[in-house]
Amino acid sequence: MRGISRNVLSRDAAWTLADGACKDLTSQWTAWENTYAAAPTTAARAAALTDAATLCDGCPVQAECADLADLSGYTGIAAGRGYRNGRPERDRHPTQRRTA
Ligand code: SF4
Repeated sequence: MRGISRNVLSRDAAWTLADGACKDLTSQWTAWENTYAAAPTTAARAAALTDAATLCDGCPVQAECADLADLSGYTGIAAGRGYRNGRPERDRHPTQRRTA
């Protein structure tokens, strides 16, 4: 059986993001990410996630988005939470369910 590389998995996940709820919100998303990155406290970061997390909660490709953030080592907001180098930050938005 042929192994599947992280690059192949990332490419496949990236294709699905064209259906993401944020696809037409590039400027807004950048603003949310900048606000999140500049937030000085855990509470401020959680507050900065509110609007993005609400959008992501209704997104049809949220699971694929989280996979891509992990596989690509993403830093920023993805799938309704903050990521640093592909790892979720601790300040999960209160509306997000714990999965593990
Ligand atoms: S889960 Fe959020 S960040 Fe990911 S594609 Fe959907 S709306 Fe965009």
